[in-house]
Amino acid sequence: MIPYGRQEITQADIDAVVGVLQSDFLTQGPMVPRFEQAIAVACGAKHAVAVNSATSALHIACLALGLGTGDRLWTTPVTFVASANCGLYCGAQVDFVDIDPRTYNLCPQALERKLVEAEKAGTLPKIVVPVHLCGQPCDMEAIHRLSQRFGFKIVEDASHAIGGTYQGELIGNGRYSDITVFSFHPVKIITTAEGGMALTNDAKLAEKMGLLRSHGITRDPALMTHEADGPWYYQQVALGFNYRMTDLQAALGVSQMTRLHEYVARRHQLAKRYNELLAPLPITIPWQHPDSYSGLHLYVIRLQLDKISRSHGEVFESLRQQGISVNLHYIPVHTQPYYQKMGFKAGDYPEAEKYYTEAISLPMYPTMTETQQDQVIAALRGALS
Ligand SMILES: *Cc1c(COP(=O)(O)O)cnc(C)c1O
Repeated sequence: MIPYGRQEITQADIDAVVGVLQSDFLTQGPMVPRFEQAIAVACGAKHAVAVNSATSALHIACLALGLGTGDRLWTTPVTFVASANCGLYCGAQVDFVDIDPRTYNLCPQALERKLVEAEKAGTLPKIVVPVHLCGQPCDMEAIHRLSQRFGFKIVEDASHAIGGTYQGELIGNGRYSDITVFSFHPVKIITTAEGGMALTNDAKLAEKMGLLRSHGITRDPALMTHEADGPWYYQQVALGFNYRMTDLQAALGVSQMTRLHEYVARRHQLAKRYNELLAPLPITIPWQHPDSYSGLHLYVIRLQLDKISRSHGEVFESLRQQGISVNLHYIPVHTQPYYQKMGFKAGDYPEAEKYYTEAISLPMYPTMTETQQDQVIAALRGALS
C-alpha cells in the first residue's frame, strides 16, 4: 500500500529522542524552548508557543484573542474540523465562507460580501480563520485589508504550510495575521508525533497563550497579584489547560526542523513531476498562485466528471484496490452531522460541495520514490478509463 502521506524518522531523530529519555527532563525541560526558538527563527515570528496539538493551539489562540460566548468565528468549510471546533470550544458561534474555485481556499470576495451583510445585521465575526489548504497560502493581503475595515482578528491555520512563503515572506511571520498555527501530526510536513505551535509578534498574546497551555499558572512575579509567599510559590491567574508539549516531542521537532527545507523542496519535485505526467488526463491539477511558495502538504486533483465514464467513488475505490491509499481532504465541515444539528445544510456552500464531489488527494511525501509515483499515475490512468 502506498500511503497518501508518511513521516520520515532518521537515526538523528531517534538519537535526539533517546537523548531526552536519558536526561533529567522528559517534559518542561530545555527542548521545548529550543524548538520554539527554532520555529520562530525559521518562520520570522517574535514569539512561539509549543503545545500538544494544532487543535490546542487554535483553542488557546482564540481564547487569547478574547473569543467567548456571543462572539462569532468564521472559517472555510474545506478544512479539518479543528479549524471550526476551536470557536465552539470558546462558546462562540461558527459560520463558514465558501471557497475560491481555483485555490480551494477561503474566497476573499465571498468573505467581503458576507461581511457587508453581517455589518448590516450586527453579526460581524470576532475572528476569521483562513486555512492554507494543501500549503497554498490564502490571499492574506485581501483578508487583512477586510480585517482592518470590519475589525476582526485573524488566526492563520497554517497546519499544511510550514516552510512556505507568501509574497516572498515566510508563512508564520504574522504580517497579515495576529496568530499563526502549525501542526506536527505525522502526516504533516514535519512531525513531533502529536504537537502544534502558535506564533505571534504580540508579546501580550504570547504571554496569554503561555499561561493557557499550562493551567493558567505562573511563576513570574510580574504576573502575580501580590508578592510571592516564598520560593515555592505560584499563582493561578487564568483558567488554562494542560496543553503542554513534552521534551521528547520537542527534541524530535528540533531534529526534524533541520530538514524542513529539504522536505518542502522534495514535495515540489514530486508535484512538478505529477503536474507534467498527469497533464494529459481528464483531471484538474492543482493551480499554484505565482506569488507564493506552497508547503505542499497535499497534492489534490479534481476529476473532470463530464469527461470520464466513472464516478468519483468508483475512481477512489479503484485506486484503493490497486494499493494506492488516496484520501479526500476534506468533507465540508458544515455537512458533518454535528454541524447540521446547528442548522447548516447541504447547498449552503456550493463551491465547497462541488469540490468535495471531485477531489482526491494523491500520495505525496518526502521519501516517496519516482517508482512509487509512477505506480500511482498508472493506477490513476487505469481508474479513469
Ligand atoms: C491537522 C490539522 C489540524 C489539527 O492538527 P492536530 O495537530 O492534529 O490537532 C487543524 N487544521 C488543519 C487544517 C489540519 O490539517
